[in-house]
Amino acid sequence: MKNGKNKTALVTGGAGFIGSHLIDSLLAEGATVVCLDSLLTGRSKNLRHLEREARFDFIQGDVIDDLPASVKRTAFTHIYNLACAASPPHYQADPEHTMLTNVLGTRNLLRLAEDKDARFLLTSTSEVYGDPEVHPQPEGYRGWVSCTGPRACYDEGKRAAETLTFDYQRLGRADVRVARIFNTYGPRMRPDDGRVVSNVICQALSGENITIYGDGTQTRSFCYVSDLVDGLMRLMDSDVTDEPVNIGNPVELTVSDLVERVLALTGSKAKVVNMPLPVDDPRRRKPNIERAKARLGWEPKVPLQQGLEATAAWFAEEQQETKAAGRL
Ligand code: UDP
Repeated sequence: MKNGKNKTALVTGGAGFIGSHLIDSLLAEGATVVCLDSLLTGRSKNLRHLEREARFDFIQGDVIDDLPASVKRTAFTHIYNLACAASPPHYQADPEHTMLTNVLGTRNLLRLAEDKDARFLLTSTSEVYGDPEVHPQPEGYRGWVSCTGPRACYDEGKRAAETLTFDYQRLGRADVRVARIFNTYGPRMRPDDGRVVSNVICQALSGENITIYGDGTQTRSFCYVSDLVDGLMRLMDSDVTDEPVNIGNPVELTVSDLVERVLALTGSKAKVVNMPLPVDDPRRRKPNIERAKARLGWEPKVPLQQGLEATAAWFAEEQQETKAAGRL
């Protein structure tokens, strides 16, 4: 129990991959935590280990809707808004819902923050930079985003959410923080998430074809989930209310490099196949994290190899569990 004893935190999207790890860290710090999640992409099994935790409560609900009465009644001191499908196939499956989750959902939670005098943290995204012409991406770069393409519901939704959040700040209506999250990986990603780390690890483990979209020369920079959560908590506890902060790992690699590493560490002989590159897929992405270093004293610690090993071990267990459940 440390400095979280006086915190009562709302985590929206808390049944998701990042949200559930954030909840674990907040509870470890001594906070009381309420999770609000629609379970559209989040999974209750991510929170199963908290069933008997007295300082934790789960409420099923969608941030787009009027917030549940029990949420409105609670004297939150901190609100972390992580509610939104984040994987391209999931957020594109219902683009209207994705856009509204970011706009209406963020508005509902900002109003709650205003009402409760709570700190509000928006999890925004590196997608606000679109397919960037500036590399690596500092927060001052305004991005190159299509407002009409299939990724726009997410990218433009998050951009609008940032706008609303900083407007509440400027108007003195809420005390806000904005994190721009870059690609993140680790245990509790959904096996059917559709993103490259989960796809490639699951394919390598089961011996299915490994799918590389395009020629595999596009780059990403992957942050392990414990580092990411540490960054979010530092940002919430900081005084950085006037500008967004990139949270991500600046070690950049191509998708083909990632596949090679996963094949090597799993010893898999799975075949690699090339598939069409999705529309508007960014060519490269790497965070400039100077601001996080200077203002939060934060930088990632977990090396890619160690993070991939932990993630692959977790997916291997998950596959065993699924197989065992199928045999029951
Ligand atoms: N990707 C891939 N194979 C897959 C899934 C994704 O080659 O099975 C590519 C995708 O086209 C993109 C990169 O990997 O260039 C990262 O994709 P992801 O969906 O993980 O994240 P995002 O595009 O949101 O950065």
